[in-house]
Amino acid sequence: MKRILNLALSLPISALALLSPIVHAQSSAATEAAAPRFAIAIHGGAGTIEKSSMTPEKQRAYEAKLEEAINAGYTVLEKGGASLDAVVAAINVMENSPLFNAGKGAVYTYDGAHELDASIMDGRNRQAGAVAGVKRIANPINLARMVMEDSPFVMLAGAGAEEFARSRGVPMVDNKIFDTEQRREQLERAKEKLDQENKQDKDYRAAVEALPVPFRMGTVGAVALDQQGNLAAGTSTGGMTAKRFGRIGDAPVIGAGTFADNKSCAVSATGHGEYFIRYNVAADICTRVAYQNKTIAQAADEVINQILLPVGGTGGVIVLDAKGNIALTFNTKGMYRASRIAGQPAQVAIFEDK
Ligand code: ASP
Repeated sequence: MKRILNLALSLPISALALLSPIVHAQSSAATEAAAPRFAIAIHGGAGTIEKSSMTPEKQRAYEAKLEEAINAGYTVLEKGGASLDAVVAAINVMENSPLFNAGKGAVYTYDGAHELDASIMDGRNRQAGAVAGVKRIANPINLARMVMEDSPFVMLAGAGAEEFARSRGVPMVDNKIFDTEQRREQLERAKEKLDQENKQDKDYRAAVEALPVPFRMGTVGAVALDQQGNLAAGTSTGGMTAKRFGRIGDAPVIGAGTFADNKSCAVSATGHGEYFIRYNVAADICTRVAYQNKTIAQAADEVINQILLPVGGTGGVIVLDAKGNIALTFNTKGMYRASRIAGQPAQVAIFEDK
């Protein structure tokens, strides 16, 4: 039976700030107005994450890395930094960790290489940048930001994106630095499964769809609201295990895997990219907020649980609005996730029941 989960944290910052002992002790109107309003949420992929298949050591390792990532972004915001910087700081921690399917821990393509996708969006002005299918960039989210800030384009792909990177002084790394034993095993298992499916005369798409969710899990993303009231969102991934023919998922597609607009919300998605592209997931959530006055929790629930799930689209989103409300919504058994709002400790969770 498919399980549905809408884990929406309704966290109005002003309300929580009033409850916090520090602000409470000095509860003048002036102090409340001056209370910093900022928040950040991250994900490290959604899928079949079950307690039974997770050792305590592995769980602790994920929780520690999620906490490190959320705190890296939070620290930027706390110091008055921009939401874009917070998003990049949080994502870099996860890109540099072999635990996640982004940067260092990226999955393998069918041909045994790694092709990385990333995108970022600025909620102030809908500026955006993305890179797709890059093989020699250690931190694709940084390059996506360069495309946004230092080129007239939104999305650059493959060799051209790397040429742009080189022209901007970004060091090229060997594709082998993304190799990990765990992902190599996943590729072998995925290829076996694909070959079996093909023997049964199914086409490649059907074969890919028959792969269990873990073969494509671990994309990372972040959404942030800074003290200036600006939203930003970013997503980075190695895509889907055994992908081929230059397949690009939703992560670098603005509106599908990433979206941010101060007038509605910021979203980063993870899940079966083909569905997230066709259902324009990130933008659809923010459009419901903008034009239908939905809360982010309602909008995310509608798109993830009521629209995607019935058609077979698995995955989740992290959503943040300009008031600091956070929704962490997924239709899978778990989603690596964390959130932190001004003055509060970080909340880290993996499974559907935490
Ligand atoms: N959305 C990613 C992709 O389809 C994969 C994931 O998030 O698990 O490339």
